[in-house]
Amino acid sequence: MTSPLKLAGLSKSYAGVRVVDGLDLELEPGRCHGLLGPNGAGKTTTLRLALGLISADTGTVDLLGYPMPAEAALARRKVGVVPQIDSLDPDFTVRENLLTYGRYFGMKGREIEARIPYLLEFSGLAGKADAPINNLSGGMKRRLTLARALVNDPDLIFLDEPTTGLDPQARHLIWQGLRRLIGQGKTLLLTTHFMDEAERLCDVISVLDQGRVIVRGSPRELIKQHIEPHVVEIYGDAMAEWKTCASTFCRRCEEAGETLFCYTDTPERVVEELENQPGLRYLHRPANLEDVFLKLTGRDLRD
Ligand code: ADP
Repeated sequence: MTSPLKLAGLSKSYAGVRVVDGLDLELEPGRCHGLLGPNGAGKTTTLRLALGLISADTGTVDLLGYPMPAEAALARRKVGVVPQIDSLDPDFTVRENLLTYGRYFGMKGREIEARIPYLLEFSGLAGKADAPINNLSGGMKRRLTLARALVNDPDLIFLDEPTTGLDPQARHLIWQGLRRLIGQGKTLLLTTHFMDEAERLCDVISVLDQGRVIVRGSPRELIKQHIEPHVVEIYGDAMAEWKTCASTFCRRCEEAGETLFCYTDTPERVVEELENQPGLRYLHRPANLEDVFLKLTGRDLRD
């Protein structure tokens, strides 16, 4: 099967700084591909290049067989986009927002009306068709933005931080919707700062830093290849003294704020030792994608 999105040797500079630097990416159809990276890594610029909203300095973009940005108008009719910030029209109801958006795609009123019951059911907004946008909660607005992106029944959907700002319940509902789309064979390109979201949804992840892909693989592969299997997070008053001997019990230690992260293959030794330290509290857990991300991109703030 041909890839719905191919980026080859893509570069883009602003004011002499390369923010996308020789990027190659081919999405597999029917899979969810995650684009992760610290702030300023070039994720949004990559999405904008992929959608033909801006032109690359070098390299090529093939979106659904169309060269970008030359054929952007044609290609964009066939994709769905969930932007980072909701752009629903507050003067319209839920139904009117879907109708207006569908018309951008050249759809007829009847065609969109026929699709509205499905979109409302998909977004858990059945019964809300005539509700004004301002009566919706943040989670409902986000679900409507997702439903709106499906108005033209796209096979490829771009999602730019779809759950930022939502509470855990609302995030779970969005995840349920995204899993349903993946189950239907849709291809997703997802940017997120939530590693649990990426771990849960993505088949393949590309971690970007300074405009380059630094690693690529499934969440499980990345965890297996780049991090020790166990983490013990340690904090408490006695940390300063204990820190000096921590390296005898762990393969690798990292300090972040008031917490010491001990990475190890043999957590039993660390835990046994910590049981005898009343001034310390700890949490033992399996390593996750966030540990990989922080190891590869560092713990320093980027903005
Ligand atoms: P991310 O989405 O990973 O946070 P972006 O792609 O938004 O990163 O930005 C990458 C870098 O490019 C940042 O340093 C940002 O300031 C810069 N940048 C993005 N768009 C523009 C623009 N239109 N003009 C100048 N600089 C830009």
